[in-house]
Amino acid sequence: MSPAPSYFDKSFTLTKGTSLKPHHDGFGTRAIHVGSEPNQETGAVVPSISLATTYKQDGVGNHKGFEYSRSGNPNRNALESTLAAVEGGTYGLAFASGSAATATVINALGPDAHILSVNDVYGGTYRYIKRVAGENQGVTSSYVSLQDEDDNAILSAFRYNTKLVWIEFPTNPTLRLVDIPRIVRLAKSHPSKPLVLVDNTFLSPFYSSPLLQGADIVYHSISKYINGHSDVVMGALILPARHPALAEKLRFLQNAIGAIPSAYDSWLAQRGLKTLHLRMKAHGINALAVAKALQSSQYVDEVIYPGLPSHPQTALAYHSLSPHALKFVEKYREDNSSPEDTSFPYSGMISFRIRGGAEEANRFLTSTRLFTLAESLGGVESLAELPAQMTHGSIPPAERELLGIGDNLIRLSVGVEETEDLVHDVEQALEATVRPRQLQQSSVITGPAAAGPWPGHLSPPGLPVLKDSRSSVIRGWVLKANFRRLRIPPLASFH
Ligand SMILES: *Cc1c(COP(=O)(O)O)cnc(C)c1O
Repeated sequence: MSPAPSYFDKSFTLTKGTSLKPHHDGFGTRAIHVGSEPNQETGAVVPSISLATTYKQDGVGNHKGFEYSRSGNPNRNALESTLAAVEGGTYGLAFASGSAATATVINALGPDAHILSVNDVYGGTYRYIKRVAGENQGVTSSYVSLQDEDDNAILSAFRYNTKLVWIEFPTNPTLRLVDIPRIVRLAKSHPSKPLVLVDNTFLSPFYSSPLLQGADIVYHSISKYINGHSDVVMGALILPARHPALAEKLRFLQNAIGAIPSAYDSWLAQRGLKTLHLRMKAHGINALAVAKALQSSQYVDEVIYPGLPSHPQTALAYHSLSPHALKFVEKYREDNSSPEDTSFPYSGMISFRIRGGAEEANRFLTSTRLFTLAESLGGVESLAELPAQMTHGSIPPAERELLGIGDNLIRLSVGVEETEDLVHDVEQALEATVRPRQLQQSSVITGPAAAGPWPGHLSPPGLPVLKDSRSSVIRGWVLKANFRRLRIPPLASFH
């Protein structure tokens, strides 16, 4: 593998070899141009989709860099160079899924390795480490709260054979943050010299650049923000210039294990990546607006969004922003906030605890108009889900409790629709969530709930509203609620 430049190296330019002054191209410029150079032969400004599985050789072993497309394909190579460019790395490797990237990187550790992982790691990662690497490869693992434990407690969890520290930043669904440079320092100080990997899926390369914070490997499920359109499953590993041997080993395993993405999916993901910076800004602005609306609602107990001052680690979130995100956030705050408002856009994921329990959460999730009840995240469309029964349903209840994943915890993936439509949708769903109970409890409703976005506003705020079966508005609403109840299967069937 030929050494490539690091894209955070100030002297790097896209116009190598010209007399232009050294210039450091920004994130969006790299996302659009690296790997999408106009075709030499046809001039096409977009890469063609190269479906060939095999390539003509002019003499035995004399080829143009491609032999068989499991080992290398023009579309995959192009995407890999774009990924390296936006993460500030040198080596990019794409895989058939995030999980395939997990399998490949853990295979690279060898047979008798120990992995130290953050305790609320993505369920599929936990499953791979325990059930696949643990049961078939002799890999052992420990799970530690890398944000709460002190240095000594973390160091005592390292073993002589700890080869990898697995960080997720932030964790899912409770959006806890790990101080990456601190964990890197601890890992470096231990004789086993483990590699530090950061799963950067939730923030994407736009909001966070873990390689700049000392990480050895950045991991992505491309299926989420990088592709961004909920139509590709793919994963990636990105490494800095100081790891040519490890990159070579992973490249060997990528080919030998063969969990590679198709040319078409690589092309789609690269197209998605070209608008990542635009989408991530919009996701952040929308999520912040939705988080503030949730926070001001009487029907919400807690909002978890690292861009809100109420998040216990909001300072860490701010200080670990990538250089390009920091530029965006500072400009946004200058234009939009008063000096005392220290909130800022920070990707599109929000978790919140709705007042009440599973019943209220279910009602909220079936009352939204724009937020679709579905797993996954990071697409242009807004999604909502109930981690306790959906994405995190396989975690035993006691453990879920410890991790703060209760029956009233709702996770939102805020999309890039119009901000005010999303805010309105969340507000009307919250109103709809409490309304049926109030109808049951009393025949007279007063106060703000009565003034909610009922069709045609039954009554001005504060005035009593009679629950009257002859009222067509109420009847219409109750019918609609019953219809919804009939139509929506119980949550358990959403697995
Ligand atoms: C989805 C996801 C993965 C797994 O990726 P797949 O592409 O679904 O295999 C890993 N980590 C995080 C944080 C994810 O959200």
